[in-house]
Amino acid sequence: MEPLKISKYPNGILRKKCASVERVADSERKLFEEMLFAMRHFAGIGLAAPQIGIARNLIVADIGEGAVRLANPAIVETKGSGKMEEGCLSVPGVGVVIDRPEEIVVKGLNEKGRVVEWKARGLLARVLQHEIDHLNGRLIVDYLNLLERLRLRLHPRKGRRADAHL
Ligand SMILES: [Zn+2]
Repeated sequence: MEPLKISKYPNGILRKKCASVERVADSERKLFEEMLFAMRHFAGIGLAAPQIGIARNLIVADIGEGAVRLANPAIVETKGSGKMEEGCLSVPGVGVVIDRPEEIVVKGLNEKGRVVEWKARGLLARVLQHEIDHLNGRLIVDYLNLLERLRLRLHPRKGRRADAHL
């Protein structure tokens, strides 16, 4: 499999509100696998469809506990909060410390098209929230304040390198 190209900031596809997936069929299952392949190839731990140029509600993740594939993911419950520096395959060379809920309940369709509801905490909860942000056209740079964003625009290479790419 040829690894897909990753859409990079400021590519407009990353700002689109993605479309709902009506049914998870073979074409969606194929996309999940291509996304997982690209994610692993580029050493990421999560990927959303717009990052490979497809504005549809599909995400994948793998933090080392097995692959997660979700269509139309939605957060239905949150608990606690915590800060962590996040990187993004679509925003290379930039790390942003983001405050997010520590625990979430996420609902969506799995690769078989069945409705699933999962509880996630820690790193997996964070990755899922980051990928769901992508489906809403939201990027890590949106969490920076105005001054930080300006600095990033003037000195793009000065961004810190994050440990986890999502
Ligand atoms: Zn990302």
